[in-house]
Amino acid sequence: MNIATLCPGKKTRRFFVYFLTSIVACCLFLAFNAMNLKSRQIKVPAIDKTNIDQTAALAHLSNAIQFPTVSHSNRAKNNGAAFQDFQAMLESSYPAVTTNLNRYTGEEFGDAQNSSLLYQWSAGRNKGAPAILLMAHYDVVAIEQTSVAEWQHPPFSGVVDGGYLWGRGTLDNKGAAIALMEACERLLKAGFQPQRDIYLSLGHDEEIGGKYGNQQIAKWMRSKGIRLSMALDEGGGIYQGVPGLEQPAALIGIAEKGYLNITMRVQLNQTDAGHASIPSEETAIGILSSALTKLQHTPFPARLDGGVGRMLDYLGPEMSFLNRLAIGNRQLFRSIIENQFSSTPASNAALRTTLVPTMIEAGFAENALPLTAAANLHLRIQPGESVESTLRFLRSMIKDDRITLQTDQTLDGKPRDQPAFREPSRISSDTSDSFQALHRTIKQIFPNVAVAPYFVVASTDSAHYDDPSLTKDVYRFTPWKLDQAGVALIHGVNEKIATKQFIQMIRFYEQLLLNLAGKT
Ligand SMILES: [Zn+2]
Repeated sequence: MNIATLCPGKKTRRFFVYFLTSIVACCLFLAFNAMNLKSRQIKVPAIDKTNIDQTAALAHLSNAIQFPTVSHSNRAKNNGAAFQDFQAMLESSYPAVTTNLNRYTGEEFGDAQNSSLLYQWSAGRNKGAPAILLMAHYDVVAIEQTSVAEWQHPPFSGVVDGGYLWGRGTLDNKGAAIALMEACERLLKAGFQPQRDIYLSLGHDEEIGGKYGNQQIAKWMRSKGIRLSMALDEGGGIYQGVPGLEQPAALIGIAEKGYLNITMRVQLNQTDAGHASIPSEETAIGILSSALTKLQHTPFPARLDGGVGRMLDYLGPEMSFLNRLAIGNRQLFRSIIENQFSSTPASNAALRTTLVPTMIEAGFAENALPLTAAANLHLRIQPGESVESTLRFLRSMIKDDRITLQTDQTLDGKPRDQPAFREPSRISSDTSDSFQALHRTIKQIFPNVAVAPYFVVASTDSAHYDDPSLTKDVYRFTPWKLDQAGVALIHGVNEKIATKQFIQMIRFYEQLLLNLAGKT
């Protein structure tokens, strides 16, 4: 055997050396990028647990839950007494707030039926910076009658049992409203003097869009020339179970998606009419169905440069090496990251604009060819995109002149009584002083979480303050810790809050006010 045939020649050896060197250099480059992800977490000591009268605080929340403040699209259906009684309960439960803060409602905002409350804690002569606005809402969604029997404790009972306080609104959002009131009452009793005006807004119609509540309050603020350094509403929270992250993630919403309802309609000519026994090649139903199928199989483009990207910037450095490798080299591993996020409905919604057909209408007789068919498409639009760019994308996908997209009418051709769309919000800063104060407060109260900005996929009342003449930064975060089962309780059966968590919420708001409006 000729040994020379087994040993590579000089040229081949050189090729292998180059090849291996390039592989090693590549690996080193990827590893360098992974190691180079610097932690953005603020390091701050946890604060000592403050001495809160837990029995009294829980009794206040329990009372609050017992008023059935359900908001209906038709205001006439609201239980006015429940809203009035809730307000009276706040007045008697929080004497220091009642005495020291200005309270505005109803006529002040030009509408006697506006039951939203705005409290102003004036800094007086101490005032040194723009005001802050902390928001919550005290209306709740209705209970589905068929589900009442499934509640372990009646939805408006406010019962404390098994370490939880039970009832509609405990999470969404009376828990936060009452925690805010408790925090202010405690600070007032301790003699705290804010260095800037503090506004508290407690909405009464968030669940139906806030048109009669916070929309009017925002208008009132503009008319008074009030400038806010930030507004904080519900939206984000502390979640266990972010893939690749061991500790819980505290997600602060820095933007929220917009929405769009479109009537997608096929209208054929009368000449296409006829008996179902002699069907034409295509019918309105067939045309509409194939367009719907096409849209459902062609998702909107994933956006790693949006909320998901910012979240990864913050959470990536806290993850294991393999995850850091992918996140630190996200252009290279883009498709892996996108696939992972696309795999669950919740993370998919964070990644892209979503579309779902929610209603459909077609045909008029069992044996006649349908000339019209229409579907309502419901879309949630990613911040950074717009209603116009969304419509453009849809048209480029459908490519069929027989199909029209209408935003001004409903399925039955009537004008809409609710707006067809809301543009996505602006994107607030994740480096502002307000964001830093939020970040710091979270770490002081919940030391073992990783903080990150993200985009909220639902709509909140904070959208009414998304206006540069009022404030630059709008944040969305409620200080509760939930796993997936906990998230499902919101608007669901057996909504409840862990009593310990409610007490933590009071501590959070108290510390946040000290950080934002205390002496520096
Ligand atoms: Zn809510």
